[in-house]
Amino acid sequence: MTPDSDLIKFRPEEPVKTSPARRHGDSWRVLIVDDDDEVHQVTRLALDRLEVLGRPLELLHATSAAECLEILSREKNIAVLLLDVVMESDGAGLQAVRQIRNVLGLDEIRIILRTGQPGYAPEELVIHDYDINDYKTKAELTHSALTTLMVSSIRSYQQIRSINQHRIGLQKIIKAGASLLEQHSLQEFSEGVITQICSLLGLHAEGILCAQTHHEEDERNEDIYILGAAGSYAPFIRQRLSNLQDRHIGELIETCMKSKQNLYTDNETVLYLGSQSGAAAVYLQTTQTVSEDNRKLLQVFLTNIAIGYENVKLFQKLRNTAYMDPLTKLANRNEFTRLLQQRQNSEESPQVAVLIDIDHFSDINDGLGQEIGNELLISVANRLRMAFGTDAVIARVDADVFGAIGDEFNLSPQSVLAVFESPFNTRDQVLTINATIGLGRLRDLGTQGLIMLKRVYIALNSAKKRTIRHFDYYVPQMEEAKEQRLQMIRQLRVDFALQKLSIWYQPQYDLQTRRIVCLEALLRWPQEDGSYIPPGVFIPIAEYSGLIVSIGAWVLEQACAQLAQFRAGGITGMRIAVNVSMPQFRSPAFIAQVANALQRYQIEEGELELEITESVLMDDPEAMIQGLRKLKSLGVQVSVDDFGTGYSSLNYLRRLPLDKIKVDASFVRDLATEDGAAIAETIVHLGRQLGLLTIAEGVETAEQEAAMRDMGCQEAQGYYFAKPMPLEQLAHLLEKSPT
Ligand code: C2E
Ligand code: CA
Ligand code: CA
Repeated sequence: MTPDSDLIKFRPEEPVKTSPARRHGDSWRVLIVDDDDEVHQVTRLALDRLEVLGRPLELLHATSAAECLEILSREKNIAVLLLDVVMESDGAGLQAVRQIRNVLGLDEIRIILRTGQPGYAPEELVIHDYDINDYKTKAELTHSALTTLMVSSIRSYQQIRSINQHRIGLQKIIKAGASLLEQHSLQEFSEGVITQICSLLGLHAEGILCAQTHHEEDERNEDIYILGAAGSYAPFIRQRLSNLQDRHIGELIETCMKSKQNLYTDNETVLYLGSQSGAAAVYLQTTQTVSEDNRKLLQVFLTNIAIGYENVKLFQKLRNTAYMDPLTKLANRNEFTRLLQQRQNSEESPQVAVLIDIDHFSDINDGLGQEIGNELLISVANRLRMAFGTDAVIARVDADVFGAIGDEFNLSPQSVLAVFESPFNTRDQVLTINATIGLGRLRDLGTQGLIMLKRVYIALNSAKKRTIRHFDYYVPQMEEAKEQRLQMIRQLRVDFALQKLSIWYQPQYDLQTRRIVCLEALLRWPQEDGSYIPPGVFIPIAEYSGLIVSIGAWVLEQACAQLAQFRAGGITGMRIAVNVSMPQFRSPAFIAQVANALQRYQIEEGELELEITESVLMDDPEAMIQGLRKLKSLGVQVSVDDFGTGYSSLNYLRRLPLDKIKVDASFVRDLATEDGAAIAETIVHLGRQLGLLTIAEGVETAEQEAAMRDMGCQEAQGYYFAKPMPLEQLAHLLEKSPT
């Protein structure tokens, strides 16, 4: 076999000693093993200036089989081994071959055996089993024979390597593809692609994946966004490509997308990833030019993942992990949460997070229709964008809750509330809306996005409970208060089950006869130390937790039992008023429960009164009218509690089957003021017009009693007459006051 003339070249003569200094990356490494020094010298002379496929040789030397194995286990990428058969022992060379193939597992290295005497030739089988390229006696290996053999061995080494590498590469692609299929978000997928490509190329992951995204409202307006990034580009995820400092990268990516071709420069690679729904590109920092082999490998990989990319995009659309609220085009809750956490670490001026809750939004939605509701939400979004958009993040965090993050001084409660000062125009409605806002200074909120969001919600809920101002800032005590409330509800549950609750009664008097006409049942929750937790504190918690439904049923039961007992004790014509909460009234079993109790205790018409607060009455007008009619038909009296504190429409009040309105204690307290007196008088007047009885609550003085009586109010209840009291005490009072 004669070597191809273009494959072999001899470099010009140069000092022999320089050859081992060459880097093995661009030379063929050849290991010469022989216990005869002279053989080393001769071989070196023969091979030193040889170039194969444009690369020189790098010669390594060993003088024993042991040394040979030691070098092979340490050094990488040795292409050819020239091995003496007889060294420390007769079979040392062949034993070494066995070790190399079976123990070190080096399959790629080409092996040429040499021996001094023909008698030591290994058997055919051995040559085959150990993949020995050639066997020559030293006499046979002339200068030219040696070069020829070297060239063919190196070529065969290179072929084996490239096949192996392709195989490894393909295995990697399959593995990478499989792991990418598990990634369902575009960001994870993109990062996966970068990492996998870098690992295919044996690089440290450093790069970005971008795609063109269509604006939903404007197809022509296309921006290139960074979908995923690894290494130093990670902070730019989800940003516009134009936000990258390095314009050069942007230009490369744009060129790649336009030309739909991969670009390779000395230390950068831009890969085109086309799919039906749009173009994407992967930019990588590659420390050296990507070899032809690797480029082919990448192409296979890219075709492979283009399908995956398509899937992920679809998936993304379906799951809407997108970071945008489709209605208002603002950031959505996920994105808001992510930004909260991100901004936490920002070095900017003090930042605040705000949640803006539109009051009574569900009324608008139910009353005027979802379309108007949506229009309103879009208008609110636009106003917020106009007011704060340039320096704050605006988001829609919940159906009727907007979010903002920005400079603490710009995003003040006043400036946010100002957005709602003028009414909103929808297609055919002008809507005046109010908002309640919760705020949290980022430095107070912690470091984890979800917890931060939760804390701003705590502030929002606290703001909702306020009556005068409509905002609140988060303070850690709020959470302590919440923990206390939780503790309280646990205890209430236990104490209720243990029947530790009791009912006190407060009499209501006829202002003309000064007789007791009714007793209001008021819950008491005694504590171990003899004190009481006031119902004003625990009732709202019981309502919130739903426990009020069973507690309320119990109160009703007790009241009816008490009425039956009065009758048995000869007290007739006494009425008991029971307070009914919203969750109780809403519970479907409520009316049946009342009917059942009335029947069991043989309660007569007018003996049981239910007190329902004005705000409960306004909750669901039509259902309320139905419910009250049924109650009336059972012979139950109905009074409106805390009248004047809600905002009933007169028209509506007229339609409700009611008996009595209770003038809220706050107006009675303010009787001495001009406004207070006017309001009380209006209510009494209204009652008369609607044909309802009026009763004044919280009467504490003789003056108040007189004032109410003069206005025409028929009944009164208050400390001036009697405080709420336990039954034993009440019995005493009932004896004194004839009914
Ligand atoms: P409410 O229905 O408005 O009850 C009247 C409250 O005013 C009672 O407070 C009573 O003790 C208090 N009060 C009566 N006269 C005077 C007065 O002259 N001056 C002052 N300053 N206060 C007076 P209480 O017993 O603390 O009850 C507070 C609230 O708890 C009640 O307000 C009612 O909304 C709720 N509640 C009490 N028991 C029940 C119940 O069994 N079920 C439900 N759902 N709510 C209840
Ligand atoms: Ca009441
Ligand atoms: Ca009341």
